[in-house]
Amino acid sequence: MTLSFDLTAEGARDALRARATPAEKPSLIGLTRAELGAALVASGIVPERQAKMRAQQLWHWMYVRGVSDFAGMFNISKDLRAELDKHFTVARPEIVEEQISSDGTRKWLFRFPPRGAGRPVEIETVYIPEEGRGTLCISSQVGCTLTCSFCHTGTQKLVRNLTAEEILAQLLTARDRLGDFPDRDTPDGAIVPAEGRKVSNVVMMGMGEPLYNFEAVKKALLIASDGDGLSLSKRRITLSTSGVVPEIFRTGEEIGVMLAISLHATNDDLRDLLVPINKKYPLKELIAACRAYPGLSNARRITFEYVMLKDVNDSIEDAKGLIKLLKGIPAKINLIPFNPWPGTNYQCSDWETIEKFADYINNAGYASPIRTPRGRDILAACGQLKSDSERMRKVDRLALEAMMIAGHGEA
Ligand code: SAH
Ligand code: SF4
Repeated sequence: MTLSFDLTAEGARDALRARATPAEKPSLIGLTRAELGAALVASGIVPERQAKMRAQQLWHWMYVRGVSDFAGMFNISKDLRAELDKHFTVARPEIVEEQISSDGTRKWLFRFPPRGAGRPVEIETVYIPEEGRGTLCISSQVGCTLTCSFCHTGTQKLVRNLTAEEILAQLLTARDRLGDFPDRDTPDGAIVPAEGRKVSNVVMMGMGEPLYNFEAVKKALLIASDGDGLSLSKRRITLSTSGVVPEIFRTGEEIGVMLAISLHATNDDLRDLLVPINKKYPLKELIAACRAYPGLSNARRITFEYVMLKDVNDSIEDAKGLIKLLKGIPAKINLIPFNPWPGTNYQCSDWETIEKFADYINNAGYASPIRTPRGRDILAACGQLKSDSERMRKVDRLALEAMMIAGHGEA
C-alpha cells in the first residue's frame, strides 16, 4: 500500500500562490552576470562603475543564499533594495501543486506566464531522493516538436520553449522546498540524502527536447554549475537528447555536462519508427557525434537510454546489436521499462525478457540498471487531472517516471 498527500490542500495552496512572481516586473534570475549588470544600469538605479560589484552581490544572494526577495539581501542598503524591488523581481514561480510520495519522491506542478503562447503554461519537475543522492528532473519545453511514437509528449504540439529563468526556477524552487540553501531547515519527515546536498544531481529529462531550446538550456545550466553560485558539478548534470546531432558537439564544448542519448533501437529502420528524428540524423551520424563528444572517457561515459518495448526491440538479437553499435564508446546503458499511456499500441516487455536483456548486456561488460519505479502513488493520483494540457502532463509524467527509475549522473 502506498500513501500520498498533497501539500497544496487549503492554506498551503494560498501560501504557495502568495509567492508567485508578479508578471509585470522582469526577473533577474537567468541573466548572465554581464546581462545582470547591464539591466541594473539600464534601470537607472545603479551607476555604470558599480554594475559589476552589484551584479556579483545579487548573484550571491540569488544563487548561493537562495534569497527570493530583495528585502532579505542584508548587505545592500534599504533604499537600493526598495529601488530594486520597484523595477525587478527575484521571486519564485507559482506552484500549482506539490505532491509527496510515500517513498519521498516529490513532484511540483509549476505555472508560468504565457509569454506569447496564449495562456499560462504548466510544467512539472520531479525530485527523486536515493541513498547518497537526490536527483531533480527538469523540463526544457512545454510539449515537444518531435514525435517519438512511444512517447505521449510526442503526440502533443510544442506550446513554447521555457526561458532560462523558468528552467532555473525549477531548481531554485525545489531547493527552497527541500531546505537546500544555507541556514534553511529541511521539512520535518522529508526523505532526502543523509549527507550533502538535497539536490545533488540534475537531469534534463522532463518534458521537451533540450537541444531544440539550446540557448536557454545552455544559459540555465551554466548558471546552475557556476562555482560562485549554485555550484552543481557538471558531472552531476545530465542532458538527454533524442539525437539532435548538430547540437551534440556544442553541448559538450559550450555546456560541458554529461550526455544521455535516447537510443531505443539499433538499426535505422526501427529507429525511424520509434524516434523519427533518426530520419534526419541516422544512427551512423548519431554514433559518430557520440564518439566525438568532448571530454568523453571512461570517467565521463555517455548514457544510452533504451526503452523496453514488447516484441519490438527486446530480443537477444537486439541486445547483440546494441553491444555492437556501442563498441568502443565509453557507455552506460539504462534500460527503461515502457510506461504505457491511453491509446498507445506498445506494451512493456515482460520482466523476464528485460532481465535476460540486462544479463546479456551485463555479461558484455556494461552496467545496465533497471530500478524499481519511484513515486508511483503520486503519479497515479494524476489521473484526476482535468484539462487537455493536464492530461498531456500526466502521460509525460509516466515517461519521466520511466526515466527516473534508471538513475542518471554520477552518484
Ligand atoms: N526529449 C528528450 C528528453 C526528455 S524524454 C529525449 O527524448 O531524450 C526522457 C526520456 O524518456 C527519453 O529517453 C524518452 O525516450 C523516454 N520516454 C518517453 N516516453 C516514454 C515512455 N512512455 N516510457 C518510457 N520511456 C519513455
Ligand atoms: Fe520529445 Fe523526447 Fe518525447 Fe521524443 S521522447 S517526443 S524527443 S520528449
